[in-house]
Amino acid sequence: MKILVINAGSSSLKYQLFDMEHETVLAKGLCERIGLDGHVRQTAPGRPDYDAERPMPDHESAIRVLTELLTAPEIGVLGGMNEISAVGHRVVHGGEAFNGSVLIDEKVLAAVEECVPLAPLHNPPNLVGIAACRAILGDVPQAAVFDTAFHQTMPDKAFIYALPYEYYETMKIRRYGFHGTSHLYVSRRAAELLDRPLEELKLITCHMGNGTSVTAVDGGRSVDTSMGFTPLEGVPMGTRCGSIDPAIIEYLATQHGMEIAEINSAMNKKSGVLGISGVSSDFRDLDAAADGGNRRAQLAIDVFAYDVRKYIGAYAAAMGGCDALIFTAGIGENNARMRARIAAGLDFMGLRLDPARNGARETVISADGSPGQILVIPTNEELVIARDCAALVGSCLR
Ligand code: ADP
Repeated sequence: MKILVINAGSSSLKYQLFDMEHETVLAKGLCERIGLDGHVRQTAPGRPDYDAERPMPDHESAIRVLTELLTAPEIGVLGGMNEISAVGHRVVHGGEAFNGSVLIDEKVLAAVEECVPLAPLHNPPNLVGIAACRAILGDVPQAAVFDTAFHQTMPDKAFIYALPYEYYETMKIRRYGFHGTSHLYVSRRAAELLDRPLEELKLITCHMGNGTSVTAVDGGRSVDTSMGFTPLEGVPMGTRCGSIDPAIIEYLATQHGMEIAEINSAMNKKSGVLGISGVSSDFRDLDAAADGGNRRAQLAIDVFAYDVRKYIGAYAAAMGGCDALIFTAGIGENNARMRARIAAGLDFMGLRLDPARNGARETVISADGSPGQILVIPTNEELVIARDCAALVGSCLR
């Protein structure tokens, strides 16, 4: 069974084509600058890479381009798009309507549309991607896999904000959590690598990329997570501030005449480690600057590591223990120094890193004899989407 996975953003569209027999990637690509000039790159094992400017005025034209590339004689991997059994879409916000992946029909589309106010930057491009696939691929089944779904198992004490309760009832203001597909993937993979049943494990998963979230996973279920109503809450990120005193917003508005839109933009795009350092949102640049003596770059690194470590402590307390700590995504997978910084001082809760193992890609990196384990696991959200999609289509065929 061949599954196409689509992750549509506002001006980009990532895709991967899976052969589910052995869960191999047949081809993957990235359409960028959609609505501007258009650029596409595709790689496929055993085929020449493709990299070209292609006009892409909208997402539908991007889907047309990827259809052409996947079926092109030289670089393509398909005889025709009819070889594709289903398309799986990443959808960022499913609100409280979805606690798992679903086949897309009119009711699902309406529910995703209803979540647009909760994720105004993310859900609209996701919907556009789905519409474009429907327009071009016709009746091929399509599935939606939600970033929020994994966190729907959180108990109300973890997802309710201490605001007037009616805000939750009438305006749906609560913690939703994001990166769910990644937290789910790495927690399952950790259980495999540790050769222990997921149901018995208390895990803390740290997805650290441009966006960062930490999740408490008890027995395979998300019980708390650092991102909240939006992906702005939690630890400081590349350009996002994470949790701050909410009174700062009113102070900036009334005492410094800033507009809400300006404050919002600053909190999302000019804050985080970029805001603290004034150097970059990228930890490679921050490491280089700090090594060169830049004090604010060092401060940004310290603040990030300190905040992630605080969440780890909080979630161990919330779950009454932690059997394993997992690092994933761009920083978690690649930045051994950051892993060492975060893990430093976690001995007290039974987590001891082995510096000699800390350079590895997918393995246990805690020391022999450490009561709890520390792991690095490359995330694979696309594979989860493809698996869910295959399972949904398979169950329809049975
Ligand atoms: P996104 O959330 O946009 O998917 P990523 O998961 O790619 O982001 O993470 C981006 C972060 O990961 C950047 O801060 C970058 O410094 C870090 N990163 C990515 N690749 C590497 C690498 N090879 N070495 C060190 N850091 C890396």
